[in-house]
Parts: sequence; C-alpha cells; structure tokens
Amino acid sequence: TFQALRAIREGETFRTELQTLPTASLPEGDTLIRVTHSSLNYKDGLAVSGKPGVLRSTPMTPGIDLAGTVLEDQTGRLPTGEAVILTGWGIGERQDGGYATLARVRSEWLVRSPAGTDARWAMSVGTAGFTAMLAVMGLEEHGLTPGSGEVLVTGAAGGVGSAAIALLAAAGHSVTASTGRAEEEPYLTALGATTVIPRGDLPALRRPLEKERWAGVVDTVGGETLAGAYASTRLHGSLAVCGLAGGSDLKASVFPLILRGVNLLGIDSVSCPTPRREAAWQRLARDLPMSRLEAMTQVRGLSEVPALAEQILAGQVRGRTVIDVQR
Ligand code: NAP
Repeated sequence: TFQALRAIREGETFRTELQTLPTASLPEGDTLIRVTHSSLNYKDGLAVSGKPGVLRSTPMTPGIDLAGTVLEDQTGRLPTGEAVILTGWGIGERQDGGYATLARVRSEWLVRSPAGTDARWAMSVGTAGFTAMLAVMGLEEHGLTPGSGEVLVTGAAGGVGSAAIALLAAAGHSVTASTGRAEEEPYLTALGATTVIPRGDLPALRRPLEKERWAGVVDTVGGETLAGAYASTRLHGSLAVCGLAGGSDLKASVFPLILRGVNLLGIDSVSCPTPRREAAWQRLARDLPMSRLEAMTQVRGLSEVPALAEQILAGQVRGRTVIDVQR
C-alpha cells in the first residue's frame, strides 16, 4: 500500500483526502517510483482547491512534480535506485501525480537527477524553477546578454519569479523585480534583484508603443501586466511569457513586433522536449546558487497541501514550497 492525497469530486462537491491505497490502484506505466518529495506550484493550487481546468478526472492524485528513486523500470532504461525527477507531462492533471509515496509513470518522462543534487533540491526547483530556467534560456537564445539592459521579472516573489531573479542575477543580468508585496523588497534584493518596483508602478499600456525600457521580460502574471511590459520592451528585446497569475487576456497590437523586432516567446514546461529538459536541469544544477535556492524554499508535509493551495492562489506563498511526502 501507499499514501496519497486524493482529490474527489462527487456531484457539486469537491474535497481532498489523505488515503491509504493498494499499489494496484496506480495508473498504467512502465516505471514504479518511490516518491520522497513533491512541490507546490500555482497549478497545484488550482487542482487541490477544485478549480476547473487542471484535473481532467477524479478521483485523482494531484501534484505536477515529483522526485524520488526508481523501484522498477520495465523498459530497462533506468536502474533500480536511480534518483529521478519528473515535472509536467500531465501528471497531477491527466494521471496521478506527486502527492503520494508511490507513482507509476512512463520511463521516458524521467530526468536523472544531476550529479551532486538530491530530491529535496530537485523539488525546491520544481516546475516553477524549471520554467524560470526555460524562460532565461529563451531570452538568451534571442540575444539577451549581460549588459543588454534591465530585465523585468513580474510576479517576482512567487515561485517562477524568485527562481528567475536568482538565475538572471547569477548570469550577470540586471534584474528589476515587480511585486505586489512591498514588504518582500529585502527578500527580492537578497535573491539578486537590483531594483524592486511596486506592481502598480509598472508602465501601463496606454498606447501600442510605450517608452522603451526592458531588454528582456520574464512574465508570470499575464493580462495588463504583460501588455504593458510588451509595449515597453526595447528594440530587439524579448518577453518570455510564462503565466497568468493576474489574468489570461492579452490586449496588444503588432507594433512592438514589427517596429521594434520584439520577440514574444511562449514557455511551456509541461511538454518541453527531453533534450531541452535535460539541458535545463543540468544548468540549474550548475548555475542556480544553492544559498539563494535555500533562501526561497520552505518544506511542508502532505497534510498541509490543502491549506497551502488556498494560500498560493491568494498570492500569499513566497518563493518555493517543497512537499515532503513521507513526512
Ligand atoms: P506563484 O508562486 O503563486 O507566483 C505568482 C505570483 O504572481 C505571486 O506570488 C504574485 O507575486 C503574483 N500575482 C499573484 N496574483 C496576482 C494578481 N492578481 N495580479 C498580479 N500579480 C499577481 O505561482 P508560480 O508557481 O510561480 O506560477 C506563476 C504563474 O506561472 C502561474 O500562472 C502558473 O500557472 C504559471 N506557470 C506556467 C508554466 C508554464 O509552463 N508556462 C510553468 C509554471 C508556472 P507578487 O506577490 O510578487 O506580486
């Protein structure tokens, strides 16, 4: 048997429950994992609170991230005992995810833990940190270099935002953090932000083209925040569009694209192809300073997930939350 946090919908009512389940109840898959850690992402907050759009069916074990060791890989790809990471690919959405002590998944979805890292490290990073890495890689591939100018990170005190600040600063970029939580300025500065601006002070979208400011943008907020950042992006600058914590609309014109050569880059961590995934995890292990990752991470137990889910949706969780599922 194993323990799992289950999401259950019965008619109009939704609830979560810690259950002990037989191993036979796991979904199909070629690889059995002993899960030690998972994490909390915005999407997990939506799933665990019963918001529509994430869980495709119930009962389901949420948790879009997991880390642990291989108990058995029927494909023969990974040896028993190998430390592995799984983010995205639909776990915690379409099939049972990481809020459990066992998981059955596809071997091809697993990334080997980089040398010198452990499951707790991997889940401190999690989907949020992995997404931040993909965003920074995208900006750099489109010409951002240290010295290009200010890079804006929106939703800065959140998981993706915190990791993006630490990664950008470590790579030598000058980071401006936008936050709705003014009291988090010392935290954001310690992560490496050179400037912290209140959410309300971001240049608003009034005209299709606003005064040029950002050499690059990592946006986790969407909506008007993204629209304003897009209109204020400098010649040949890029925006890595990650999230919708503030809204999913995008009101925009083509002018920044055709008059400034601005690049609007889509970031999708769920189905990111394996070679890019592995490259991102290797770079996270190499470039994300351990002390800054520790400073942005809290560790909680499985039973605390429902309360944390409400908090992350309310924008009250700072940085990253590791879920110790064995606790
Ligand atoms: P998170 O920890 O909750 O961070 C979101 C941050 O956005 C909050 O901490 C807050 O930052 C800000 N925010 C919240 N509500 C807001 C509002 N109404 N208006 C403006 N800002 C608001 O969540 P996360 O896990 O980092 O995820 C961030 C977003 O990225 C989510 O939308 C998530 O779905 C998305 N995401 C996408 C991918 C992908 O593959 N594309 C992967 C991971 C996450 P401040 O308090 O600093 O303002």
